[in-house]
Amino acid sequence: MGIPLASEARLESVNGRTPTIATLCSHSSLQIFHGARIEGFPTLGICVGSPPKFYDAFPLARPDQFLSVPTVKDLPKVTDKLREDGAIIVPHGSFVEYLGPEAFATMDVPVFGNRAVLGWESDRRKERDWLESAGVTMPKLFEDPKQIDGPVIVKYYGAKGGKGFFLAKNREALEGFHPTGPHVIQEYVLGTRYYMHFFYSPITDGGYRLREGSLELLGMDRRDEANIDELYKLGAQEELMKAGLRPTFVVTGNVPVILRESLLPRAFEVAARIVERSIDLFGGMVGPFCIEGIMTEDLEFKVFEISTRIVAGTNLFISGSPYSDLIEPGLSTGRRIAREIKRGRAEGRLAEVLS
Ligand code: ATP
Repeated sequence: MGIPLASEARLESVNGRTPTIATLCSHSSLQIFHGARIEGFPTLGICVGSPPKFYDAFPLARPDQFLSVPTVKDLPKVTDKLREDGAIIVPHGSFVEYLGPEAFATMDVPVFGNRAVLGWESDRRKERDWLESAGVTMPKLFEDPKQIDGPVIVKYYGAKGGKGFFLAKNREALEGFHPTGPHVIQEYVLGTRYYMHFFYSPITDGGYRLREGSLELLGMDRRDEANIDELYKLGAQEELMKAGLRPTFVVTGNVPVILRESLLPRAFEVAARIVERSIDLFGGMVGPFCIEGIMTEDLEFKVFEISTRIVAGTNLFISGSPYSDLIEPGLSTGRRIAREIKRGRAEGRLAEVLS
């Protein structure tokens, strides 16, 4: 038996009945509903105001019912209704972002995955402690600008989509830079970006085994980021910055990628270390997560961020990916989540995958 994340009291609303899979109508909700439906679960879409019309365009992913709230922040007021429906909330990036970490952490409805991960993910320093203590290589941090020995990226805390990030090609280029808020100065890693979609199941025995449970790779993407991806077309970035044009990293879309096969063992090793360390630190990061990093020309993988729930890049693979097809054709991350809930119920181990 693994680590119980949810108390008996928390699970009362889903005991002895088929749960309803619920999420906020945004981000990767179509995929989550589609996957839940294939696995035989009823679905509920939480929406702000009227149900979004574009859901009508996707009948296989439209939830069975909608629950409307005036704003996302009002969600805690409808938790009685969600419990009555036997809802299990599947959180995605926007869900936690819009609701706020406090309200999410204390919401009295069963949630898929371990909520305790939030405390480690939302604080950049704690995230670094977690990953580095797992033996993962991250971009160097410069506490003292005098130590800068190459290109750097200055990241402001809470800069959504990297708005306001600042790039400098060396220490000299940063002279005269006056930060406008709390920030970190990080090594700018030159290489190619990979966003790897993993799934950790504490209740599965087969496949790529960890100390407890097993790890799956379900897909991989690269994000399209505006304006940085096309900035070069206007000329040298330094000149652009002098003209007041700043690079931004706002995600506008995603493209599918695969990794050189010989690099896959390294990718699994990094993911496994992160999960095993999470078990020691806070009971385990259960379900989907995404490792976001850069592979250098020396084939060193440097992780700059981890997302600890379903990422929007998985929407590329609603009908499977080159990786998930080798596990089971047609296996999306949304469907994998529903499958985990199904297995948890069948084996009386829901407490290990819900919190
Ligand atoms: P998110 O919207 O994912 O929360 P964020 O604002 O936390 O983004 P990061 O994910 O840390 O910012 O970085 C945004 C983008 O900046 C990355 O997708 C990548 O393109 C680039 N980037 C971040 N860190 C580095 C780095 N150390 N070296 C090179 N590029 C980086």
